[in-house]
Amino acid sequence: MSKQCKIIEDLLPLYHDGVCSEESKQLVEEHLSQCEECSNLLDKIDGEIVSPTKDEEWKLLEGISKAVRKGRKKAFITGISITLAAVLLLFAGLSTWWYCHEYSYYSAFAEGQTPALVEANMKNGIKPTEIYT
Ligand SMILES: [Zn+2]
Repeated sequence: MSKQCKIIEDLLPLYHDGVCSEESKQLVEEHLSQCEECSNLLDKIDGEIVSPTKDEEWKLLEGISKAVRKGRKKAFITGISITLAAVLLLFAGLSTWWYCHEYSYYSAFAEGQTPALVEANMKNGIKPTEIYT
């Protein structure tokens, strides 16, 4: 590779992207017409950028990153749903427990039982309302 080839090698990416000066473009084109090595190099740059393999790899990466993002979103939604369901269940359970416990406790008074008797019955596992039913 000659000294000029080195310079052309540096200019080729710019030439390929069409961002080099008119003078550089002319120099590159002039050199390419006589230098097979540098022509091959340009072909390689062309191939690297528009190669279907690269494109597919990029699409694959994009697909993976999309899937990861989607997965994260899904996991987030699932997590929130589970938390909400757990809170609802806990609330439902607590209010059911409260209803059964307190309601039977107070309805026992309504049926004329003394608080001491109700407490004693509950300690023995007898529900206050069960006595009269
Ligand atoms: Zn050359």
